[in-house]
Amino acid sequence: MTTHSPASAALFARALTVTPGGVNSPVRAFRSVGGTPRFMASGRGAWITDVDGKHYVDLVGSWGPMILGHSHPDVIAAVTDAVSRGLSFGTPGEGEVLLAEEIVRRVAPVEQVRLVSSGTEATMSAVRLARGFTKRTKVVKFAGCYHGHVDALLASAGSGVATLALPDSAGVPATTTADVIVVPYNDIAAVELAFSKYGDEIACVITEAAAANMGVVPPLPGFNKMLAEIAHRNGALLISDEVMTGFRLSRAGMYGLEAAGLDPVAQGWAPDLLTFGKVIGGGLPVGAFGGRADVMALLAPEGPVYQAGTLSGNPVATAAGLANLRGLNDTVYAHLNETANTVGRLVSDALYAAGVPNRLQRAGNLFSIFFTAEQVFNYDDAREQESFRYAAFFHSMLDAGIYLPPSAFEAWFVSAAHDDLALQQIADALPAAAAAAASA
Ligand code: PMP
Repeated sequence: MTTHSPASAALFARALTVTPGGVNSPVRAFRSVGGTPRFMASGRGAWITDVDGKHYVDLVGSWGPMILGHSHPDVIAAVTDAVSRGLSFGTPGEGEVLLAEEIVRRVAPVEQVRLVSSGTEATMSAVRLARGFTKRTKVVKFAGCYHGHVDALLASAGSGVATLALPDSAGVPATTTADVIVVPYNDIAAVELAFSKYGDEIACVITEAAAANMGVVPPLPGFNKMLAEIAHRNGALLISDEVMTGFRLSRAGMYGLEAAGLDPVAQGWAPDLLTFGKVIGGGLPVGAFGGRADVMALLAPEGPVYQAGTLSGNPVATAAGLANLRGLNDTVYAHLNETANTVGRLVSDALYAAGVPNRLQRAGNLFSIFFTAEQVFNYDDAREQESFRYAAFFHSMLDAGIYLPPSAFEAWFVSAAHDDLALQQIADALPAAAAAAASA
């Protein structure tokens, strides 16, 4: 049963006539959970409010950027100040230097960085750069890892391990994905096999620093390090996609968690390129890619790899991103970890209490619940879950004022603003939602 949401329903009907599916990004359409998408009107702290005036505890956080909570005063002030000075100049400006410096300061392997306007642009450009640097064409990616809607990266595994990939979307030519090799996540043997078959043709391996687009599937200990070692042994680059994890899991993202107390740059197992988005835009459109200075030096105008953007380094967007990053300190990261732990445990325990087998999986403060009793290591495992239970769970939570990701295959996001009141509301909603999942 979904609550009646007349204003959302009316907007959705209008949206459907002028926009495919009524949305500007597919998961927002509620296709996998059913019902009417809620059209949001405002947000403050841990809460968002829809056009019918109903309040929700937000566990999506715009899919990552709202790590400080909605309408954080420092971010709003930085944006307001930037707006008062003009919206875009198409020239260099101070804000983009400050944001780049902040990124370089936090993430050791990033010696130079270029700003773009989305995560998709970041990964697309990083792959082009890796191909330009290595003068090779093939790319290894992992099934279930999402890197934005880059043609070549919308590829799924062909039959058999380490065979050339097939397009995952209409409109992507098979010739484009023919240069991509899709292998199972967390499977080093499959990566070795890909390199033994195509070693001197492979430009790069691209991986999510921690997989979080098939639900959260953390890399096995040493997996990312092995990827770097295999790539480097074969003259290829490692691109670590931290669009989701960057600056969220720690000051230096997933890299920071794995590098703690070590020196991967000196030891040769740091990624060569990293991609970012979400948190570094504070809710405005920003992405970035960066890494080794000798690789980045190939970018135009320094080198022959072309890459550009009318709004890249936009002063308003960089002001938001910088304020967001500056708000992230050790206290905030500790709070995010504790909150993720609490919410994850509450959900998992409630489901168990209702007799629903489930698996809480975490990568730092990113987490998701799989409706399966087994640990999930890769995309095939993730698809084994009883995702039909999620729709019932989701709608019960939504009715109780908790906004969850509208798909069983998405990560859940907490923020610095999730406080005891928000946690209590989640806890109160869970028994009914777990019962709904049990009887689905
Ligand atoms: N890479 C990863 C790991 C992502 O999670 C996403 C988006 N969820 C992207 C790339 C694409 O970013 P954007 O939607 O900003 O293009």
